[in-house]
Amino acid sequence: MNTVTTPAQAARQELPGFKGQLIGPEDANYDEARKIYNAMIDKRPALIARCADPDDIAKAVGFARDHGLLLAIRGGGHNGAGLGTVDDGVVIDLSLLKDIQVDPDARTVRVGGGCTWGEVDAATNEHGLATPSGIISTTGVGGLTLGGGLGHLTRKCGLAIDNLLEADLVLASGERVRASADENPDLYWAIRGGGGNFGVVTSFLFRLHEVDTVVGGPTFWPIEDTAEVLAAYREFLPSAPRELNGFFAVTTVPPAEPFPQELHLRKVCGIVWCYVGDEKDAAEVMAPLMDAAPEPLMHGVQPMPFPALQSAFDGLYPAGDQWYWRADFVKEIPDEALQIHAKFGAEMPTMQSTMHMYPIDGAAHDVDAADTPWSYRDAVWGSVFAGVDPDPANAGDIRKWSVDYNEALRPHSAGGAYVNMMMEEGQERIRDSYRDNYDRLAAIKATYDPENLFRVNQNIEPKA
Ligand SMILES: Cc1cc2nc3c(=O)[nH]c(=O)nc-3n(C[C@H](O)[C@H](O)[C@H](O)COP(=O)(O)OP(=O)(O)OC[C@H]3O[C@@H](n4cnc5c(N)ncnc54)[C@H](O)[C@@H]3O)c2cc1C
Repeated sequence: MNTVTTPAQAARQELPGFKGQLIGPEDANYDEARKIYNAMIDKRPALIARCADPDDIAKAVGFARDHGLLLAIRGGGHNGAGLGTVDDGVVIDLSLLKDIQVDPDARTVRVGGGCTWGEVDAATNEHGLATPSGIISTTGVGGLTLGGGLGHLTRKCGLAIDNLLEADLVLASGERVRASADENPDLYWAIRGGGGNFGVVTSFLFRLHEVDTVVGGPTFWPIEDTAEVLAAYREFLPSAPRELNGFFAVTTVPPAEPFPQELHLRKVCGIVWCYVGDEKDAAEVMAPLMDAAPEPLMHGVQPMPFPALQSAFDGLYPAGDQWYWRADFVKEIPDEALQIHAKFGAEMPTMQSTMHMYPIDGAAHDVDAADTPWSYRDAVWGSVFAGVDPDPANAGDIRKWSVDYNEALRPHSAGGAYVNMMMEEGQERIRDSYRDNYDRLAAIKATYDPENLFRVNQNIEPKA
């Protein structure tokens, strides 16, 4: 008698030699294993294949394909839209792929597909080196890199994809390939912004830069000064040297050290700085902005190891909160937009809700729009409107604030959005975000994944 009833049970029978773990709803660790960062998304996969190596991944890919099951790839599990998991399908969980090898002479780091950025930063900082990533250390290398990668080093070193030298993948067919400038160059082009559409990346090779101690931290002004500070910032930042990154934010001062008690829970606007260089030069470079803006409430800028800046927000944004976010590319900030930021900044619904504008100029502009799929090289900022709170009862309020803020600014946006900061917003928005590069992506998708097996993502549909 055949007693197999669930995909997890079938997988245990059909995948002999699987070295990792095959976790199904009947297992004690299922609820823990299916959790992702954004608690607003609560999906129940039929099977979580926690893979130990590329052979396991090829087996799990084949199992999903042969059983006609939806397949999600989970790197760090941070995706806002929850694209690292899926209802009733198979999740390929890469969290066991943690190998990190730094080559200080070649200035490279090879990173397993399941690493988080904090793990990579700690390893490279031992050699006084870093590669660009984001602003929170718990984010996965996989998703952040494959979608682009905006962060504290964008102006000096470019996007994460601009520093990706090669990647090893398991394709929809189960075949293992390398993508680099010399091997499968079409695939190499596509994965630098095209997301997890083309295969499961088992390892990444990144270029490293001499970045050790940086001068970083926030400057805060009263929320009532938002329009004035943002006006000064829009003039200042594009002409500032590349060594200086500073993203603009509306936020609430956390009720914790090192913030002065009198500022706790105060709504503010601010700039979060990262200067690659020494403290004296940082002050000189920031001086034109500090002279043009009103008197700040706090200027908390100091030298720190790069990993300390990279993890400075980790405590404020732990896993398990409710998240709803929207995003837009921005080329200019007209006066009308200043007023909209001032209005929505004053209306932030919860302590963790925030708006960030990440710079995309400097080294990110050295790469042409068609050199990678990431076409918005002419944008100057990527905005994200993030409604965040631990309490599910506030999910409606945070969603409404994020959507209303984003829609009020849409007339002043450049068009598409950074795919890593979108929710599931439909095919047209995805096309708008890749612009002229979409058709080339769709043609490469047809070569490497003609059946669209990898479709739990910001999906590129294979060209017919
Ligand atoms: C708190 C927070 C802060 C963030 N800060 C930044 C930031 O500063 N800069 C920035 O650029 N982005 C930032 N992001 C956005 C982030 O880049 C995306 O959410 C990204 O998708 C997260 O990657 P992940 O591997 O953790 O996600 P997952 O949910 O695991 O995966 C997301 C997507 O990537 C694909 N994927 C992941 N790993 C692989 C792999 N190895 N092979 C193939 N496909 C893979 C999956 O298919 C899925 O579609 C932030 C997100 C959060 C929640």
